[in-house]
Amino acid sequence: MPYLTQLADVARRTGHPVTEVTGWKSRGHGPQPSVEGIVCHHTAGPRAGGDYPSLSVVRTGRPGLAGPLSQFGLGRSGRIYVIAAGRCWHNAPSTSPLHDNSSSIGIEAENCGSQPWPEAQLDAYRRLCAELCREFELGASRVKAHREVNTSKPDPAGIDMTDFRAAVAALLAGKTPARASWTEEIVKDLPLLRPGVKGWDVKTLRGCLFARGDLAPIRYGGQLGLKAWLESTEYDSQLASDVRQFQRAEGLDDDAVVGRDTWSALLRIR
Ligand SMILES: [Zn+2]
Repeated sequence: MPYLTQLADVARRTGHPVTEVTGWKSRGHGPQPSVEGIVCHHTAGPRAGGDYPSLSVVRTGRPGLAGPLSQFGLGRSGRIYVIAAGRCWHNAPSTSPLHDNSSSIGIEAENCGSQPWPEAQLDAYRRLCAELCREFELGASRVKAHREVNTSKPDPAGIDMTDFRAAVAALLAGKTPARASWTEEIVKDLPLLRPGVKGWDVKTLRGCLFARGDLAPIRYGGQLGLKAWLESTEYDSQLASDVRQFQRAEGLDDDAVVGRDTWSALLRIR
């Protein structure tokens, strides 16, 4: 089996927002040999600190264990982070031959291990497992908690796996996969904007930043005025700095390039 470069598309079928972490398509401890099972984890990361503060650990690893640690991350908001397309070190030693590193996909969901799970995150967790089962033609019984396939692990804490698998089975029994969300549909048609470009789409970018309240009032004060600021079609350096600030706040790469991930964040309802 090659690198699993379809994983982002599979994740998008959940209808939850997806972030493709830079370099994911070639990240892994070699290609993934096979997919016979899915293993659910919690990160045991910090209690607070944003949507997915464990990203760098899951991507890069920790002392004694090199990353990537799992193919997927799952944020508290339900956002799915696609981190690797190859094999990951998420379960060893495994008590199940269908759930070791070479035979299964790992999902590391953000949770400190003793806090409640937000409903959006649980919904994304179930749907991601269901779409993975659909993609790799697995039954819901192949979805396991880490603690079920490794005797020394407690995760994911607080999730009843009998209920969880029943929900995955119900999703699998549905006639059609979940549709992509409306923002995911819209952003497919939006252009890639880089600093220096000029055009009507730059006005849309300015309007989104303004509407979300992610803009310091100083940006549209003074001589220019709000109306002129909103109507400017130039992607200038000042706008680039605002976009970078927005991207950092959203946990995105702060490259000032407005592509699918940044448009999704700009258009998301919160
Ligand atoms: Zn685990």
